[in-house]
Amino acid sequence: MDPEACFTLAYAAFSLCFVFTPSEVRSAGLTVQHLFSEWLGSEDLRFIQHHIRRSTLTLLLHCCLPLGYYVGMCFASPEQNLLYVHQAPAGWQLYFSVSLAVLLVSCVLALHWSRRGWENHPICRALSTHAQPQSSWRAVASSINTEFRRIDKFSSGCQSARVIVTDTWVMKVSTYSLHVALHQDCHLTVTDSRQHSLSPELNAPVQILTISVASLNPRVQPFHIRLKSTEYLELQEKLHAPIRNAANVVIHLTMSELFLETFKTYVKMNAVYKCPSGQELEPCIGCMQASAGVKLLRLCQADGDGECQECFCRPMWCLTCMGKWFASRQDQQQPETWLSSRVPCPTCRAKFCILDVCSVE
Ligand SMILES: [Zn+2]
Ligand SMILES: [Zn+2]
Ligand SMILES: [Zn+2]
Repeated sequence: MDPEACFTLAYAAFSLCFVFTPSEVRSAGLTVQHLFSEWLGSEDLRFIQHHIRRSTLTLLLHCCLPLGYYVGMCFASPEQNLLYVHQAPAGWQLYFSVSLAVLLVSCVLALHWSRRGWENHPICRALSTHAQPQSSWRAVASSINTEFRRIDKFSSGCQSARVIVTDTWVMKVSTYSLHVALHQDCHLTVTDSRQHSLSPELNAPVQILTISVASLNPRVQPFHIRLKSTEYLELQEKLHAPIRNAANVVIHLTMSELFLETFKTYVKMNAVYKCPSGQELEPCIGCMQASAGVKLLRLCQADGDGECQECFCRPMWCLTCMGKWFASRQDQQQPETWLSSRVPCPTCRAKFCILDVCSVE
């Protein structure tokens, strides 16, 4: 590969990592917050001031990226004479002007925001909508700063979309912005949920809820927050107000409930057990409501060695009860081991794994 293409690829990868900061990049400390922590000040001490500076600096640095590519190209491809802009090919001249303009516009914007003690910054303007008639955004900021310092605040989500709920405020911190709403005049509504059988970082099932936050104050922009269903109760406790459920989303509050959904999905992928003709399916002996619906067959190791054992029980349990039994025998502290573990059959104690659970037809 020629040096131009090499540099282009490397720069594109660098830019994507810098803008979207995947967890590997974050743990290596390559974030605006980490690199410029001196200038940004402590988030714990002055939360609002920290985010005003962080969002401004983030905007400036991201707007430097297009020009950075041009500067890098000057060295990666010296034969194009890019160092002398007036001699460069027309396409490059255009690229240079546009990226310079982007940077200049962002500088002017940052300068405008920073005037009169950051009064024009979007965060400050958002805060001033909550200020009392005689006071300014600073009073609101100091109330938020004080509440953020308390250790009993609710905090969740990744670095690019954090949700923070203090005693009186609901906040969402994202890369460029900070949304703020007062508990007493906002309505929270669960609008959507997404279930992931396995989350990449936890290696356990997760349900992500989308909750819309709408304020009675017409000057406050509505926004969405996302969090794990297992954090829902904690959020509700912190809010002292009910959260509406507009879409009738089923919320799985505990790990076992979440696991049950995953268990059912996995069992559906297994082979189906054909019930011998004439054999009636009895009601499940766990719940006495559904009819028995699962049979344990050692399918994971056909040759017979390994930890799983043969179970000769007839179908006696429904899928839900079997899933609950499976979940109840797990180490509650280590959800990542649940799918791969073996548990004894509830009737004969023969060990089985999730691959051995077959639905009955
Ligand atoms: Zn049952
Ligand atoms: Zn059995
Ligand atoms: Zn097995």
